[in-house]
Amino acid sequence: MSTKERKPEWLKVRLTTGENYQELKKMMRSKTLHTVCEEARCPNIYECWANRTATFMILGDICTRACRFCAVKTGLPTELDWAEPERVAEAVEQMGVRHAVVTSVARDDLNDGGAAIFAATIKAIRIRNPFTSVEVLIPDFLGNWDALKIVMDAKPDILNHNIETVRRLSDRVRAKAKYDRSLELLKRAKEMQPQIPTKSSIMVGVGETYEEVIEAMRDLRAHDVDIVTIGQYLQPTKKHLKIERYYTPEEFAALKEEGLKMGFSHVESGPLVRSSYHAHEQVKSAQAH
Ligand code: SF4
Ligand code: SF4
Repeated sequence: MSTKERKPEWLKVRLTTGENYQELKKMMRSKTLHTVCEEARCPNIYECWANRTATFMILGDICTRACRFCAVKTGLPTELDWAEPERVAEAVEQMGVRHAVVTSVARDDLNDGGAAIFAATIKAIRIRNPFTSVEVLIPDFLGNWDALKIVMDAKPDILNHNIETVRRLSDRVRAKAKYDRSLELLKRAKEMQPQIPTKSSIMVGVGETYEEVIEAMRDLRAHDVDIVTIGQYLQPTKKHLKIERYYTPEEFAALKEEGLKMGFSHVESGPLVRSSYHAHEQVKSAQAH
């Protein structure tokens, strides 16, 4: 479907700001915590927050990069906040989260890219919430594999790093990140801790062909990635990258089928799928494999 047509029905989200949503918003502010749900204007926010699921964004809300699809603020980040891991752990406890997703802005200004804070957050969540699984969605640390090791040594339940788009468009869509470096990160993570499932995400509709998406999925499998999520790109503001095409629900279903044939343990593919959407279900299927 071309973008000249109106936004398709399947992308229209019903806005229901229930009690849980308001309560969580208040708690995030009182703990000065940031969530991707809010910063990236995720279309699933009402559903996820009503179900008490959220993706925490650590290391501040200002990113050193400026990817053309992303609504997060760009600039010079503030100091490191070593009390943040504990505040995230408290929020996870108060929300009763069973699967916590922790991600960050890219902190290219730090030697370890923020890896030590990621590790501290995993540990803090574990201490307060021994039954909660923890997924980390990490930046590429500019290829600093010692930084990656710091995160892997803290043993997250899922290691997630997004390739975001197909090889041909990677340099245009992502700032500073490299397609092959991302694949290498995923491979190295698996080599460091083979028992930890790895995961990546592709957003479609930025100008790639269907065949190129299949190719990117094959690249992920060739680097031992276990879980893939595929969702429709939605332009956050007029200044951001244009949507080239809306994929139909049938195309997303076909991508899911292809992915399962390739051997992924879990494929989440749909118009509103985001990296952390239904993430708790992915731990279960990865563990079953
Ligand atoms: Fe937040 Fe992820 Fe849900 Fe979006 S899909 S609202 S980022 S938890
Ligand atoms: Fe957004 Fe890119 Fe920064 Fe990630 S690295 S927060 S995608 S601008």
